[in-house]
Amino acid sequence: MINDRMLALGNEPSAIRELFAYGLQRKAEIGEENVFDFSLGNPSIPAPDAVRQAIVDALAEPACALHGYTPAQGTPAVRQAVADSIQRRHGLEASPNRIYMTAGAAAGLAICLAAITHPGDEVIVIAPYFPEYKVFIESAGCTCVEVPARAADFQPDVPAIAHAITERTSAVIIDSPNNPTGAVYSREALEELAAALKEKEAQFGTQIYLISDEPYREIVYGAEVPWVPQIYARTIVCYSYSKSLSLPGERIGWLYASDQMEKPEGDSVYAAMCGAGRALGFVCAPALFQRVIERCLDEPSDVEAYAVNRQLLTEGLSELGYEYIEPQGAFYLWVRALEPDAQAFAERAKAHELLLVPSDSFGAKGWVRIGYCVDASVIRNSMPAFKALAEEYRS
Ligand code: PLP
Repeated sequence: MINDRMLALGNEPSAIRELFAYGLQRKAEIGEENVFDFSLGNPSIPAPDAVRQAIVDALAEPACALHGYTPAQGTPAVRQAVADSIQRRHGLEASPNRIYMTAGAAAGLAICLAAITHPGDEVIVIAPYFPEYKVFIESAGCTCVEVPARAADFQPDVPAIAHAITERTSAVIIDSPNNPTGAVYSREALEELAAALKEKEAQFGTQIYLISDEPYREIVYGAEVPWVPQIYARTIVCYSYSKSLSLPGERIGWLYASDQMEKPEGDSVYAAMCGAGRALGFVCAPALFQRVIERCLDEPSDVEAYAVNRQLLTEGLSELGYEYIEPQGAFYLWVRALEPDAQAFAERAKAHELLLVPSDSFGAKGWVRIGYCVDASVIRNSMPAFKALAEEYRS
């Protein structure tokens, strides 16, 4: 018999994908240049030349070796290179035996949730949050507990998180730089969170893991992105090259069960991640791209184009009187809707060919997300539409 939950998931495409599909249809109808599609988080800058060169170099290797299975958790040399890179960048010992190569952050999240939770557990997310978290959490049989971020700056509201923790809480997911708000969690906020988690662990006699989902780590505009294992030992880092190297379609990333998690617990978490990868069928991440990222680990992300877009968009919208959160990272702008119902606002924006994602999809009310990973001309040309939309509300 067909699984009803899966059927419902399959029949209800995400609001973001639905809007993107609408945009494609609309572009075919009225011309690409007349639709201002800010819906998707698809990087708008090409992968660095070093990636292309690494692909070309890899293709010179014997095909059977190049395209063959790797060990389930990834090629040892690649895992060693990732561990060395962590050690170089963050100054903390990192072992390849704690690295699991994944098909992007999505697979990583599904793996670590399956590894550290039991059906019936609770997993805390900070709203607004990446909508797929709820799908992954519920697929692991757990309850997604939403705790709103601090209203003023979208940093974690630690007292509220502490209040939401129960004896069934097995993990908290954080995402910094954040999709959708662009907030980068401060060291101070993370230290406060770590202290609260330790206090609750002691109170309930439980273990609470911090899942640090970091696909946007490299996309920052000057802010510090603290290395979470340094602050909280029970951390699993979920990393991806989808955004940092503009490789979302290649499905490559890794999970890291922090070496700060003491043996034997840390080794068991890693073994459970290997087991979860096996159970879910997420073994042997794409072999060609394991090789490619091994050679491009220290390749800097080209954030300049996003910085230009960020400035164009924030200057343009503030001149028009829109309220937004100044993004410190990622490539999203979180803008206050001009009416309380964000869906109704996004619908009215559509009439001006502006495709904005309503905040309801992210577990919050009254805002929209603008993905500024687009060509700068889309932002420039969209300003008259934003102006007309604002005027419509004023009149
Ligand atoms: N986590 C966040 C916060 C994201 O925004 C995304 C993708 O947009 C993902 C995870 C999934 O990333 P990946 O493409 O590496 O699976």
